[in-house]
Amino acid sequence: MTSIATLGSHCSLQVLKGAKEEGFHTVLVTKSTREKFYKRYNNFIDEYIVVDDFTEIMNDDIRDKLNASDSVLIPHGTLISEVGIEKIEKLEIPIFGNRHILRWEADRDLKTQLMEKSGVSIPKTFNSPEEIDCLTISKLSGARGGSGYFLAKNSKDYYSHVEKFKKQGLMTDDDELQIQEYIVGVPVYLQYFQSTMKDELELFGIDKRYETNVDSLGRIPSIDQTELKLSPTYIVVGNIPLVLRESLLVEVYDIGDNFVTASKELVPPGMPGPFCMEGVYDSNGKFVAFEFSARIVAGTNIFTTGSPYSYLNYGPNMNMGRRIALEIKDAIKANRLDDLIT
Ligand code: AMP
Repeated sequence: MTSIATLGSHCSLQVLKGAKEEGFHTVLVTKSTREKFYKRYNNFIDEYIVVDDFTEIMNDDIRDKLNASDSVLIPHGTLISEVGIEKIEKLEIPIFGNRHILRWEADRDLKTQLMEKSGVSIPKTFNSPEEIDCLTISKLSGARGGSGYFLAKNSKDYYSHVEKFKKQGLMTDDDELQIQEYIVGVPVYLQYFQSTMKDELELFGIDKRYETNVDSLGRIPSIDQTELKLSPTYIVVGNIPLVLRESLLVEVYDIGDNFVTASKELVPPGMPGPFCMEGVYDSNGKFVAFEFSARIVAGTNIFTTGSPYSYLNYGPNMNMGRRIALEIKDAIKANRLDDLIT
């Protein structure tokens, strides 16, 4: 019997709860430090594999345990950040979706290439600080969760931030920064599911992130901001549900469909399963994407009992974790599981 497995972090509770609801045996790989926490959910987690470090998933004994229970591993952000792309590509366990596209998410150049191919608007990038001619956001390579970012209006501004980062030990001479036009507007995260079984794109939910400290700067009067020399940081602390004006949804589907088509061409088998387009609606109401995630995002956790969009297709109680399990169930019934995994 097929099991659904994931690492204990990120969205694992949603994924395994959904898997259980669709009738699967569920397996959680958890760090020993979180074992007690995850055991609180043993009403839907059937099996625990305890490790000290998630890279142990590469070890023969853990691999054998997962394969013994016929596990399909659901990838999420923690698998990428803590195990790493090189190892994920070599992992001898079936992974739901296209494991090769995860490299395109993690590598800034490949990411830009795929977004350009999909035709979505993206912010202008600057090859050198001297070219900066508008408000920019600089992103330290490998920065996760929005730390290691700064805003600069010109090259002088840029270099003074770099100096500050170096003094604070946040970066070294070897670190690379991506300089991107800063898009002023409303940040929006579009959560999609591309079904292989139905050959159809589903809009699954929309959220906005609550980031510290940028989302709290507006609570401080500008005079105090200036005196305190406050700089924004973009560390995600939570997610807030959002519905878009219905008239925007037509383009939202086009953005998703075009991304699926481009990924099929550049990274076969493409973008099956969950993914997220991350961007800003600018002052003209145009969506400009600065990122994508090629797997389930933690923002789906707000819709454990369903989102206003999943409700339209499935009624209540369909979440992204459950949708993944349903897809796997449909594939098993049709003897097509190989079409969903890499
Ligand atoms: P990221 O790590 O690229 O997802 O970015 C973290 C946060 O930085 C986002 O959620 C946005 O708030 C902000 N951000 C990143 N890139 C841009 C951009 N080009 N324009 C405006 N805000 C951005």
